[in-house]
Amino acid sequence: MIIALLPIFINLEHIESRIKTIIIREMESEFFPNDNDQTNYFQLILIEQSFDNNHNNNIPEEIRGILLDERNEKFDSIKQKVKNILIANFINDYLVMSDPQLPTELIVLERSKAESLGEVHCRHCGMEFEDQIQLGNHLRIHYLI
Ligand SMILES: [Zn+2]
Repeated sequence: MIIALLPIFINLEHIESRIKTIIIREMESEFFPNDNDQTNYFQLILIEQSFDNNHNNNIPEEIRGILLDERNEKFDSIKQKVKNILIANFINDYLVMSDPQLPTELIVLERSKAESLGEVHCRHCGMEFEDQIQLGNHLRIHYLI
């Protein structure tokens, strides 16, 4: 299957710059391998590819997302790692969801916007639910202790 060979893209273009900077820093510490200069496993993708290819000068506004040269079977574990990054950094206003149109793409969206698309995630643990009623039942376990 061709799709199994596609790299996984994490779309960050809908995030405000301050939050985007935090997420990129955390993604680098989670995913950037020591041999990246040979493998090119971790790539920052710019909104417009400039001719000046000096990657040190990237500012958050120019970054569209992160491409990981990873097999598709890792999709769910990468999604979970991005969830963990959001939770660990108290980034409550955003969540990470699978792009319904693009099977190898994750997208970080404002929680309110994602919820209008039917994505209901627990802000404490990232678990996904069908609706707010299910989420409300689940939230009790976080408040019991
Ligand atoms: Zn939860």
